[in-house]
Amino acid sequence: MKRKVTIAVVVVVLIFIVVMATNKVLSLGKDDDINNQVISLDDKLKVLGNIDTKIKYFKNDYINRYLAYKKKNPNLTNERIVLEVNIGLDQEFYTNVKKSSHLNTPYILVNKFYYLDQDYVPDKLEVIDTKYSLGEKYLVNIARISFEALAKKASEEGYTIRAISTYRSYDYQTTLYNNYVKSDGVEEADTYSARPGFSEHQTGLTLDIDNVSSNYMQFESTKEFTWMQNNAHKYGFILRYPKGKENITGYTYEAWHYRYVGVVVATFIHNNQLTYEEYYAKYIENQ
Ligand SMILES: [Zn+2]
Repeated sequence: MKRKVTIAVVVVVLIFIVVMATNKVLSLGKDDDINNQVISLDDKLKVLGNIDTKIKYFKNDYINRYLAYKKKNPNLTNERIVLEVNIGLDQEFYTNVKKSSHLNTPYILVNKFYYLDQDYVPDKLEVIDTKYSLGEKYLVNIARISFEALAKKASEEGYTIRAISTYRSYDYQTTLYNNYVKSDGVEEADTYSARPGFSEHQTGLTLDIDNVSSNYMQFESTKEFTWMQNNAHKYGFILRYPKGKENITGYTYEAWHYRYVGVVVATFIHNNQLTYEEYYAKYIENQ
C-alpha cells in the first residue's frame, strides 16, 4: 500500500515537472518572439532622428505608432511623421475618436477624430444681420461680429458675400447626413457631409457662403472667392477644407466653407498654407 502511494506521488511529481518544463519552453519561445522585435526606447528615438528633442508636440505614448507610420511612409520627414500621427492620420477616419476640447473658444477642433456631444450648443449664439444671410442664421457672438464686418467690407468694395448655412444643431446634422446617405451611400456621403457630432457647423464658428447670384458649389469661380482668399484671414476666417489637403481634413475641397479661428491664428494659417488640423496639433493640443 505504501509503495503504491509512493509511485502515485512520483507520477504526479513527474507530470508536474513535464508540464512546467513544457510551459517554460513555450514561454521562452514567446519571449524570443517578442525579443526579436523589442528595441530600446533610445534606439526607437534614434530611428526617429531624436526628433523628440526638437519639437514640443512629440508624444512618448505614440512612439510605436510613429515607428509604424514611418515604415509605411519612408519619404516623410520625422517631424511630419509625428505631426500626422498626432492628427490621427495613421488610423482610419472615425476611429480612435476623442471628445473635442476647448469648447466655447475659437480654438475648438471638430473633425473625423474629434466630436461634440449631442447636447453641445455653443454659448452666445446670435442671429446674423439678415443683410448678409439667407434667412435667419446663427453664429457665436465673436464669429457673428467678424462675419458681418467682413461682409460689409466686401459689399463696400463691390462684392456680395452671404451666409447660407451656419450653426447646425446635432439633430439637424443627423437629418442632413441621413438624407445624403440615403441618396449617395455612406462612403460617398462621408466625403462631403459630417456624421452627427462630427460636424464643425455645430460649433457655431463655421459657415458656408455664396455670392447670391450663383450656386455655392460654383463659388470657386466667382470674384467673391478671390476676394475671400485675399481678405478672409483679416477677419479671422480660414478656408477650412483646402484643395490638395483632403487626406488631412478628411473632406473634399470646399471653396464655400469657412471657419472662425481669430485674426492671429487665421493670418498664421493663411501665411503658412496650413490646415487647421496641422495648426491644432502643433500649437493648441498640448498647450
Ligand atoms: Zn460647411
